[in-house]
Amino acid sequence: MSELNIAVLGAGIVGLTTAFELKTKFRNANINVISDKFNEDTTSYVAAGLFRPGSSFSGPTEELTRKWIKDSYNYWDDLRNTSEGNKAGVTQISGYIFSSQYPNIVRNNYLEKLVPLYRKVTEEELTLCPGEWKYGCFFTTLLTQSTEYLPWITLKLQTAGVNFFTSTIDSFTDINKKYDVIVNCTGLGAKFLCNDNKLVPMRGQVLKVDAPWIKTFFYGDYDTYIIPGFNCVTLGGCRQYDSYDLRINKYDGLSIKERCESLVPSLKGAKLISEKVGLRPHRDPVRVEKDIKTINDRKIKIVHNYGHGGYGVTTAPGTSLYAVDLVTEILSGGSKL
Ligand SMILES: Cc1cc2nc3c(=O)[nH]c(=O)nc-3n(C[C@H](O)[C@H](O)[C@H](O)COP(=O)(O)OP(=O)(O)OC[C@H]3O[C@@H](n4cnc5c(N)ncnc54)[C@H](O)[C@@H]3O)c2cc1C
Repeated sequence: MSELNIAVLGAGIVGLTTAFELKTKFRNANINVISDKFNEDTTSYVAAGLFRPGSSFSGPTEELTRKWIKDSYNYWDDLRNTSEGNKAGVTQISGYIFSSQYPNIVRNNYLEKLVPLYRKVTEEELTLCPGEWKYGCFFTTLLTQSTEYLPWITLKLQTAGVNFFTSTIDSFTDINKKYDVIVNCTGLGAKFLCNDNKLVPMRGQVLKVDAPWIKTFFYGDYDTYIIPGFNCVTLGGCRQYDSYDLRINKYDGLSIKERCESLVPSLKGAKLISEKVGLRPHRDPVRVEKDIKTINDRKIKIVHNYGHGGYGVTTAPGTSLYAVDLVTEILSGGSKL
């Protein structure tokens, strides 16, 4: 049998996790990761990485959405329980979500059935943070810090023989000749590569601060969050629909600082490490699909895996596993599109 050649486009958390699952399934395949940006230049690198799928995360069906979330949780939790978990940037973490207005905001349909603990807070806990908090939940979940995970999985892939190339792909025809299948994990880049109007940037800005005394995460109203990680605490945030602005906005930064410090006043003593902006690749539904294009009488087999919005760290493993199943199907040529 001739050698199987697979290209994975994109080196964010989705691309690298997909490449990893592909290498696990097709051990002898020649797999190339092709991307224009890596590590600190990706959106994935900006994320705090809390496992908390929101209601705007959606697959084509409720059943599939739940499957992707469950498979993802199992992937991260299994990794956390190995001796590599810490190096890979995966840990377990607990914290609070409060709201002064909406009881539903503190609930999470997906998490309540999945995580080891998800409960309403007591009256006493509602007074833990300054504010007029009326509703709240406390839960235990997972955190994956991409600043640790991306280099860790890159090394794993290189050790397994996966090759990395730096290149901007403007069209699938640019690269199709060499490959049996192309797996498209280009995040927001897919908007242009696939001419996909459903894919919209959701701009976010965060502050990374040095506050090692914060061990618990906190969410408040107006997209306010404080999430401790391995070597910093992430303060957020904002969600600006259809904004492509990658510059740091002074006013967003000031608003985030003020909201977080009023929720957890001890943050007033925290040193700023960095400020970051990222464009979440939002799409409803997330696109994990087969696609066969015929160009110049030649068939190009593509599997798309993009559009994870604000939940790509959470859900990358589940959609990646699904994408690998689609690769198997598209290569066998037997099933319908
Ligand atoms: C402020 C902020 C906080 C967040 N917090 C969380 C969180 O707590 N939990 C969570 O689950 N998610 C969070 N997210 C969302 C998460 O970061 C994204 O969903 C995730 O990073 C998407 O991963 P990706 O691999 O699809 O995209 P990316 O990380 O953007 O990777 C895309 C890759 O494709 C490459 N590429 C694009 N176009 C081309 C092209 N034409 N040719 C070659 N290469 C190309 C890019 O260079 C890049 O390597 C957050 C996002 C932001 C902005």
